[in-house]
Amino acid sequence: MMSVQITCSQCGSSIEVHPDMKADKVHCEICQHVQDVKFNADHEAGVLKECPVCSRQDFYKQKDFNRKIGVALFILAAILSIWTYGLSLVALYLVDLFLFRKLAMVAICYKCKTNFRSLTNMSEIRDYDHEMNDRIVYSDHDFKGKPLSH
Ligand SMILES: [Zn+2]
Ligand SMILES: [Zn+2]
Repeated sequence: MMSVQITCSQCGSSIEVHPDMKADKVHCEICQHVQDVKFNADHEAGVLKECPVCSRQDFYKQKDFNRKIGVALFILAAILSIWTYGLSLVALYLVDLFLFRKLAMVAICYKCKTNFRSLTNMSEIRDYDHEMNDRIVYSDHDFKGKPLSH
């Protein structure tokens, strides 16, 4: 089932929800802010076409990588490299290559940064595009799910 991780617009906390057409609001447990959501039958089927938070259709996907673990591993490898003559950094690179490349993907809404996991149409979501991101975030451009064209 699709899992949706909404960022509270009030305090920035993560709110984890599952699509439910009967629910049109989600509650932030930290600051009690109420956020409107619009789930449809697509969402319940694990298909992401429209963002339930901001109604945009522009998403990108990236590896679902836990940054905290990544940073901790890197620091550990950097410290160890003093005694291993850099071999621990090579090891970290190999771990990254073999382990993290296989990680699940997460789809992210350009506009409101809501995260979507366990999609059935993840292959339709395109990779991150820097120009699209700038135009959506800074110029409020709406691509309506279409790729960037010049
Ligand atoms: Zn909040
Ligand atoms: Zn959104």
